Amino acid sequence: MNKLPINVDAPEERTTLFADIILPVPIPKLFTYRVPQELNETIAEGYRVIVQFGKKKILTGVVGKVHVQPPKEYEAKYVLEVLDDRPVISPVQIKLFHWIAAYYICTIGEVLNVALPSGLKLSSQSRIQLNPERPWEDEEIDFSEKEFVLLRALGNNSSLTYDEAAEVLQQKSIYHTLKSLIQKEVVLLYEEVQAKYKPKKVNKVRLSEEYVQDEHILEQLFSTLEKKPKQVEILLKYLQEVPVYHDQQANISGLEKQSFYQAGLSKSSLNTLIKNKVFHEFEEIVSRFGKLDPLNPQEIVLSPEQTATRDEILNQFLEKDIVLLHGITGSGKTEIYIDLIKNTLENGAQVLYLLPEIALTTQIVKRLQKIFGDQMGIYHSKYSDNERVEVWDGVINGQYSFVVGVRSSIFLPFDNLGLIIVDEEHEPSYKQFDPAPRYHARDLALVLANMHHAKTLLGSATPSVESFFLAKKGKYGFVNLNKRYGESTLPEISIVDVLRERKKKLMREDFSSALVSAINDSLATGNQAIIFQNRRGYAPYIACHECNWIPKCESCAVSLTYHMYRNELRCHYCGYREKPHSACPACGSTKLNTVGFGTEKLEEDLKLIFPEAKVRRMDLDTTRSKYSYQNIIEEFEAGDIDILVGTQMVSKGLDFKSVNLVGILDVDRLLHFPDFRAAERTFQLVTQVSGRAGRRKEKGKVIIQTSNVDEPILSMITKSAYSKFFDLEILERKNFSYPPFTRLIKITVKNPDKKVCYSGTDMLLNLLREKLGSSRVRGPIEPIIGKIRNLFLMELLIKIERDKVNLNTAKNFIRTSCDEILTERRLKGTKITIDVDPY
Ligand code: ADP
Ligand code: ZN
Ligand code: ZN
Repeated sequence: MNKLPINVDAPEERTTLFADIILPVPIPKLFTYRVPQELNETIAEGYRVIVQFGKKKILTGVVGKVHVQPPKEYEAKYVLEVLDDRPVISPVQIKLFHWIAAYYICTIGEVLNVALPSGLKLSSQSRIQLNPERPWEDEEIDFSEKEFVLLRALGNNSSLTYDEAAEVLQQKSIYHTLKSLIQKEVVLLYEEVQAKYKPKKVNKVRLSEEYVQDEHILEQLFSTLEKKPKQVEILLKYLQEVPVYHDQQANISGLEKQSFYQAGLSKSSLNTLIKNKVFHEFEEIVSRFGKLDPLNPQEIVLSPEQTATRDEILNQFLEKDIVLLHGITGSGKTEIYIDLIKNTLENGAQVLYLLPEIALTTQIVKRLQKIFGDQMGIYHSKYSDNERVEVWDGVINGQYSFVVGVRSSIFLPFDNLGLIIVDEEHEPSYKQFDPAPRYHARDLALVLANMHHAKTLLGSATPSVESFFLAKKGKYGFVNLNKRYGESTLPEISIVDVLRERKKKLMREDFSSALVSAINDSLATGNQAIIFQNRRGYAPYIACHECNWIPKCESCAVSLTYHMYRNELRCHYCGYREKPHSACPACGSTKLNTVGFGTEKLEEDLKLIFPEAKVRRMDLDTTRSKYSYQNIIEEFEAGDIDILVGTQMVSKGLDFKSVNLVGILDVDRLLHFPDFRAAERTFQLVTQVSGRAGRRKEKGKVIIQTSNVDEPILSMITKSAYSKFFDLEILERKNFSYPPFTRLIKITVKNPDKKVCYSGTDMLLNLLREKLGSSRVRGPIEPIIGKIRNLFLMELLIKIERDKVNLNTAKNFIRTSCDEILTERRLKGTKITIDVDPY
């Protein structure tokens, strides 16, 4: 860290600049600081800076604006230090952050916190430093001996961690000394501001200059090494790999030390050569992603339908900034995207390709990488902090003109976007739940594109009701592609009545006779099957056969899920685990049965019913490590798995040639989920997972098991009647005033004390009803899970008509009302989360 500017009273002969700083504090505004003259040239929007906040805190923030207006209400403090020599955030991003904070009712500091990869954020280690505004030598205060020692040490070091300070004083607890210095205001405590990012380095060697300049000197060297064959081997290896006399640059880039070891050469001989100055040793910073050239795969030729679709999209872009592409599963949307991406890159603009989840990225990323090589950056949650910083920097320095990534890639520092593609735009995983901002990446994509004057293409086989509605209204362009690529056709979907099968005792565990025989056919013909059940674990819960007692989590009002593999009961909300009981604690009965089924039980049953088949499971539990998704997908692709059973992870984007059967086990659970989007979600999930079947020549087969055979949505799914489904669904939404006809804002009040939680909710309800009108505020509602991690929860739901009330005014009311609740003494310990457009 550099020394802090001490010269605080610089004469003001030049213009005094002020900087509005975004700080990671929960106060919804920017803070104005004065820029010291000597930093005038080195400060600009998007730079990270260090400032003093309040009396004793020092924080890292980002410059949001530089201007000449001193603040009216307070005396501006000085910016203490500038951390960057170029902006880490672009002006458009700052604009976007402001937009997000206003729209999602949070602070810009919270946005910054989620947007920046943590490698660019301050680490949380506390440090102390001298207070530049109160030099201790000038203060007429008495200091103890220890305090003097520490102050002098700080004078020499500019800052110390707690441990370092303890070492200076040679004692463990320095708390009282520190506290006294902080109270005397000559020392400041602050959070470490050093970025955590560490570049990846490799150790290399190059031949010393004299040997390169004169071949004879090298020959002499060889003769002196006559009796040192190991050193000779090393030299020969180097000369073989590095053409020192043909390519001047080659010797400068040198050779990795690792490559000698890999060739089985001696470590100590190499070190001797370094010691004798034959080799010069150095470090080089390298990319964590290696190098990747495009493979120049055979040019993709779009089919006539795809060409027409592409042309129609471009045509619509002439008039509209947003186009919705409704293309059935397997129609080859990706190939159309690739064509549009190439086009945009050729025009010199950047492209962002959003995917809902990493499960999806594996296959598509491979396809894209072959085409775009390393001008394509990848950004997702399984990347380490360091990797993310490299992608971030790569976007700034122009290495990556094209990024494919999950929802957080919306925050990357683009400065010239031409096109954003939101693939599977209907996917709920585009929505962030916690922490704030609870943003929807598709919606932000539209805002971001607008700021860049870029185009957005939303793509899906099952568009969200919201997007389809806006397309129908003409706000978005709309293009339809309802033919699969090549000779492939949509699979045949049939519905099996499990009630009837149960009565006739035809079921084998949870598999109907139709599904069992279809799986047998699939195995016999060397094909693959996917079994979908949107519930992980072995069984949703355990119940006593006699008294119906059910084990529940003590911290969350929810039953525990049974996991066979570890023989334990787990809470899916807080992670609590316990061993299953051998007898019912309520009645003593030993008849404790599992109820229902999750993916783990299905995996077990499949192995029993089809002992020859190779069965694998893909769900949250089997994909926790970085490469586990990829491994499962690669095994499946290679044909090492016959039956893949999984949660919604198996439903998206996957493209396998041998899958000819999809089984959907418990569609009723999806249909009856207590949420206004349940029907939409069911239509989407079932259509998407069905779309994995029969993606090549052979027609695929889908079997849906249900106890509600007459459910109208199911027949629409079997007929792929999206439009019909939409017409029915939009009526419901209208009748019950749900989105897209209204905007919803969900407010959750939390408190460890149930009574306080309830009275806080009531108070908020009254405040909001007073301001927004009582019909717009529903509640209090006890959520399905009324207690999580020992906090009681209550909800309010605000419905605002799209046109009638000014949304911004309403949001301001919500913000101020919540602030009022939070400062109320008797509601101490209350937390409030606000979710705009909840899912
Ligand atoms: P979607 O995303 O619409 O479900 P995909 O883009 O995954 O469909 O395409 C389905 C399959 O068809 C993929 O295996 C893809 O490689 C292939 N495909 C699509 N279009 C073409 C094309 N023009 N040339 C060659 N293969 C194609
Ligand atoms: Zn019992
Ligand atoms: Zn719990």
